[in-house]
Amino acid sequence: MFLIDMHGKAIHKKIKLKISLPIEKRPMNKIRGIIVHQTGGATAKSAFNSYNFGKSGAHFLIDKDGTIYQTASLIKQTWHVGKLKPRCLAEMRCTPTELTQLKKFTPSGTHRREMAKNVPNRYPSNQDSIGIEIVGQALPVNEPDHDKRTYETLTKEQSDSLKWLIQELRFSLKVPLTEIFRHPTVSYKNKTEAATASW
Ligand SMILES: [Zn+2]
Repeated sequence: MFLIDMHGKAIHKKIKLKISLPIEKRPMNKIRGIIVHQTGGATAKSAFNSYNFGKSGAHFLIDKDGTIYQTASLIKQTWHVGKLKPRCLAEMRCTPTELTQLKKFTPSGTHRREMAKNVPNRYPSNQDSIGIEIVGQALPVNEPDHDKRTYETLTKEQSDSLKWLIQELRFSLKVPLTEIFRHPTVSYKNKTEAATASW
């Protein structure tokens, strides 16, 4: 089991602390889910470099060799999710009103309506989820249409580390298995992102 200290840092010898202050945003009051990503870059270094610009980032980064870095405090939000997809549609439980609203579909309008709901009626968002990035490219990199690229398969070491980390987070943060998702499930992303990740 790992401990989470008052600063939101996970204390365990398997986790290397490498906080990127620019990606830490507002306080996160309640953690309701975990979102699993792949970085799109070839190395951990390229992810750390982009974190210096302070736009998007996540709470953990798993390198090719399985090394786990904590990159943001667990009591701070990071921007890793983006606009939410309508959860009721995927789970076939939309109300008639929701179905009517979805006919006039716009990602921003849908996101706004989703955020008025609570988990599990919507997917976990930047406000209430932990992000785990796994180093991996979408290939081929010369394919101009990003949606036509395919993300790399996780290495054995990454798979092992992801399983361990998710298990630890589930128990430490009391996140149910039903609230752990790959990024393209919850937002409009290349559908192969984290497709080979399992937990
Ligand atoms: Zn992602």
